[in-house]
Amino acid sequence: MSLQVRPQVSLKPYNSFGVDVQARLFAEAHSDDDVREALAYAVQHDVPLLVIGGGSNLLLTADIQSLVLRMATRGIRILNDDGSKVVIEAEAGEPWHPFVQHTLAQGLSGLENLSLIPGTVGAAPMQNIGAYGVEIKDVFAGLTALDRQTGELRDFTLQECNFAYRDSLFKQAPGRWLILRVRFALDRVEHLHLEYGPVRQRLTEQGIDHPTATDVSQAICSIRNEKLPDPAVLGNAGSFFKNPLVPAALVTRLKVEYPDLVAYAQPDGRMKLAAGWLIERAGWKGFRDADAGVHKLQALVLVNYGSASGLQLLNLAQRIQKDISQRFQVDLEMEPNQY
Ligand code: FAD
Ligand code: NAP
Repeated sequence: MSLQVRPQVSLKPYNSFGVDVQARLFAEAHSDDDVREALAYAVQHDVPLLVIGGGSNLLLTADIQSLVLRMATRGIRILNDDGSKVVIEAEAGEPWHPFVQHTLAQGLSGLENLSLIPGTVGAAPMQNIGAYGVEIKDVFAGLTALDRQTGELRDFTLQECNFAYRDSLFKQAPGRWLILRVRFALDRVEHLHLEYGPVRQRLTEQGIDHPTATDVSQAICSIRNEKLPDPAVLGNAGSFFKNPLVPAALVTRLKVEYPDLVAYAQPDGRMKLAAGWLIERAGWKGFRDADAGVHKLQALVLVNYGSASGLQLLNLAQRIQKDISQRFQVDLEMEPNQY
């Protein structure tokens, strides 16, 4: 028995909103054996099991009557290297950004646009994390998960994960799959993605005409640091709403009243609206009610100024959803996982 199960643990340090709720039971998994022990413990004591990583995509609205298992497994290894493509595997508990930096230090490109995303490797496939025109599906080479229903291990290929915009098979079947380790196919020859938002502009400002993957990573870190609140300073879970995918006809209608509406064409003919633009235009940017608020610089980010509860944040989110629906006939879907 190496698993340490503790009763009544505050989850405040374990969620980036800094919401103070209690876990009935709490443990950290440092190995596959710990994970199996936790599953057995949960069955034996008849409590649900909630797996978390860095807690950066959670909205906790009440005390959690479960065994909360924080993935703290570590290990990074190269599985295959043909001189140009490299398959690298990381354990679920590896912190994401240090893993990205590790790959760049090894001369591997592919993850640079995903720099500075909080959280763990194991949670990255849950919503197919994405930023600046890259999603993990673009460099994904497989993962190993434990089927919590049968206790069996299963390897997933890219096709089997059903990755979509902020979505995956694992998100669609909550509580079924416990992701143990993830594999990525990275390049020794750099194929950079610079055409998104302000990335190239930032590099140009820095006098970099022929950037390396590390230059791109550093540019993205500097853009993110300027715009996004650091959860260690101001509680938040990143973007609180997904960017809505809407019919092109709705965009045409909205553009009559809002000619500067921000919308991006999708391969399937729909349009992606910038939810942050809608929320800002509706006047919510910088709004604050007690300790729950909308960030001053990025209207897509809800923030906790100190002692907001999950329910207060949820209430604010619902007010915003209602207002956006009435003004623009657009339904905003929340991104963080609510418990
Ligand atoms: P958690 O919040 O701990 O968990 C998220 C979900 O995954 C939960 O449902 C949990 O049960 C489940 N889960 C966690 N680990 C496992 C596992 N090993 N097996 C099975 N299920 C598991 N997201 C983006 O996509 N792009 C961004 O650019 C981005 N920027 C962000 C910026 C900030 C400042 C913040 C606070 C968040 C941002 N996010 C972004 C959201 C978040 O960082 C990601 O979704 C991240 O992958 C969550 O990882 P985590 O380890 O913190 O997961
Ligand atoms: P931004 O650059 O101000 O852009 C606003 C929105 O427009 C983004 O949400 C983005 O959609 C979309 N967009 C911008 N350029 C685009 C292009 N060339 N093609 C298609 N869509 C485009 O956004 P931001 O808030 O500063 O975030 C920058 C990036 O980091 C975005 O990719 C964003 O998703 C990601 N991010 C995610 C989170 C999170 O918690 N999920 C938090 C912070 C940042 P997409 O979001 O679909 O890319």
